[in-house]
Amino acid sequence: MMANLNENNNPVALDSLYMETVRDHAKDPRNFGKLEAPALHAEGYNPLCGDRVEVYVERDQEKVGKVRFTGEGCSICMASASMMAEQVEMRPIAEVEKITEEFRDLLQDKRPAMSEESDLNALSGVKKFSVRIKCALLPWMTLKDALGKGKGDE
Ligand code: ZN
Repeated sequence: MMANLNENNNPVALDSLYMETVRDHAKDPRNFGKLEAPALHAEGYNPLCGDRVEVYVERDQEKVGKVRFTGEGCSICMASASMMAEQVEMRPIAEVEKITEEFRDLLQDKRPAMSEESDLNALSGVKKFSVRIKCALLPWMTLKDALGKGKGDE
């Protein structure tokens, strides 16, 4: 299960624990791998850092099924992809969109934490390093691309 680090928002005490969570996901990514068609697929590339991510996702109407990813990149990008895959699997699309939005707001310092307990809070430190925000968002933008392919619009 998810590391239990996010009950409170004490950035000073949790900074190193946050790094531990990020490192753990980067080193041991959840849901790493591929899915066969008809699973949806999209590729993302972040030229600023060289991160590459491929996202595979099953979509059944308004629900996400399995989520897998492959790719290579910095630990922020890989950790974010791992957390994403773990977090959005088997969720309604509307919730996935909400989580995506909240995560973007977290990185842009528009909210202090995710509304539900989440390893994603561990990436909030990225907001201090604006170039790294793209690394963290890449898997989410790629997921959005993939899901869009199942809808017929962008
Ligand atoms: Zn990166």
